[in-house]
Amino acid sequence: MSIVYIVSAPSGSGKSTLVNVLFKVVGHLDFSISYTTRPPRGSEQNGKEYFFVTKEEFEAMIAADEFLEYANVFGNYYGTARRFLRQAEATGNDLLLDIDVQGAAQIKKKIPEAVSIFILPPGREQLEWRLRNRGLDSEAVIRRRLDTARREIENYSKYDYILVNDRLEQATDELKAIVLGERVRRSGKQPSVEEACLLATTREFRLDQARERVQPILASFEQGR
Ligand code: ADP
Ligand code: 5GP
Repeated sequence: MSIVYIVSAPSGSGKSTLVNVLFKVVGHLDFSISYTTRPPRGSEQNGKEYFFVTKEEFEAMIAADEFLEYANVFGNYYGTARRFLRQAEATGNDLLLDIDVQGAAQIKKKIPEAVSIFILPPGREQLEWRLRNRGLDSEAVIRRRLDTARREIENYSKYDYILVNDRLEQATDELKAIVLGERVRRSGKQPSVEEACLLATTREFRLDQARERVQPILASFEQGR
């Protein structure tokens, strides 16, 4: 059985950056390339970051029941094709979905054993800085993303793991530990000493341990309103 990992984060938190590094350091992991009706951004290529389709094409896929989940995000459709899970199962790989909070809720309903990870920026100011520094969005879009971020962050308690992307290198190591830790946990085998250490590390990021770390971040978004 493939493990399904769901990663969600407010836009600009550094999720794509983290996930890109993760794929370089963890094997047997497939990325589910979503379908979207939004136009490509920057250097994005069709079939790499997303499959870019028209609204009509997307709606035809909905009618044909080709999506495991789909949602409307920032006025565009985004969806996870069922075939990615089938392919992962066939090759014995695990599958990572980079999807929003609505999509994550739909997947958790269908696949309760999926591992969900919510990535947070260290605070509102840092998120604003990252969005500006990325240089991909207009001022109006940055405002909207910040406002949406506040609402998205309120959903953190629906996730299994909470990761704060403060220092990139540390956050990457933590994400890797969660992914590898779940493999150990689900293997049913007695963990080696090294694996037991890994499992102990990942416990820190589980929701029940994370509330204290999340409160000041949530507060920074409330103050910035
Ligand atoms: P997302 O995929 O969550 O929208 P990106 O991966 O595009 O976010 O990151 C947003 C911006 O923040 C990018 O310019 C990226 O280089 C930068 N960034 C990512 N992680 C960090 C970090 N830990 N510290 C500082 N900047 C970061
Ligand atoms: P972006 O346009 O910045 O690439 O993505 C916007 C949001 O859509 C992000 O939160 C991203 O995780 C989410 N997203 C990307 N693909 C999917 C998908 O297939 N389904 C859902 N529900 N959300 C997605």
